[in-house]
Amino acid sequence: MKTELSGGGAVTADHRDLKESGQQKGYVVLTAEERAKGFVRPIRRSYVHVGMSAAKHPLRDLTEAETERYAKFGYVKFEAYPESELPVTGKFWTQAELDTVGKGRGAATTMSQDIAETYARDPSFYDGTFCVGCRKHLPLDQFVWDGTAEQVGS
Ligand SMILES: [Zn+2]
Repeated sequence: MKTELSGGGAVTADHRDLKESGQQKGYVVLTAEERAKGFVRPIRRSYVHVGMSAAKHPLRDLTEAETERYAKFGYVKFEAYPESELPVTGKFWTQAELDTVGKGRGAATTMSQDIAETYARDPSFYDGTFCVGCRKHLPLDQFVWDGTAEQVGS
């Protein structure tokens, strides 16, 4: 077994259930044995929520068809990119993403040593993380390591 829960113990089926604080019941980490194989990044304990960069192109409302297809993902606006950016045609935005735009430096979150070491051993291990300011989990591209401009998880 290469993974366990932070603090020790086997990974449970319900570890992603949320507590009152917005945090999960448990977080998966690489086992101590796995982490001891060597770090490819420095061990960093804190990251800062810097939010999304603002849309570069005008936002429009979703069409009826898009709403039907994408409402379950929380998308509320579409940013249409100009032809010069093909093959990318645009980006769907959630309200949560729009709310973070332009917030600048946000809350700093500090995590346990075993999670920090898991990032240092395998930077792409996680695809999202908890923000103590927002009290929810968000994509890693909204966070930088404290004191750096380096995105968490890269
Ligand atoms: Zn936040």
